[in-house]
Amino acid sequence: MREGDAPRTVQCYHCRRFFDVPARAMSIGCPWCYKRVGLDDLTIKGVCWTSKIQTCGRVVVRPRSTLVAPLIEASQGIDVHGSCEGTLVTGGRIYVGPKARVRGSLRAPSIVVEKGGVIDGAMVRIAVARPEADATTGVPRLPRGADPELRPVIRVPEWVKGLRMG
Ligand SMILES: [Zn+2]
Repeated sequence: MREGDAPRTVQCYHCRRFFDVPARAMSIGCPWCYKRVGLDDLTIKGVCWTSKIQTCGRVVVRPRSTLVAPLIEASQGIDVHGSCEGTLVTGGRIYVGPKARVRGSLRAPSIVVEKGGVIDGAMVRIAVARPEADATTGVPRLPRGADPELRPVIRVPEWVKGLRMG
């Protein structure tokens, strides 16, 4: 098996449960709630206004690009290099690049703001998704490769003003 062909674990954004998917699948029916989930990475280039964006992959907002959506949910992480407005939710990391600007609210286990990046009047909640407990053992099922010692981390430089922890 080549690198990158191994199944990966994703979290359904409808029912929040974890399951394994083939490495190259682009969308799949959730085995728990049977709803269809998108698995691909979404790259925003130019200006995008939409009602919501949801994927089990990543969302990347390219430099000089704008994404405006009430809900932006990407299980594996959100990288903002341009500007982004809405409610950002991820089980991965929110990255705010040096020329990026984010307005709205953010919920993620990890938020990284580069010097020069701006979080504007946001509610920020550092939250780790709670994995489902295994039905037979009661042991929480962590995604494959997840660090069991995972702790919420935030790295926001002191010059970031107006950050409220909720
Ligand atoms: Zn589901």
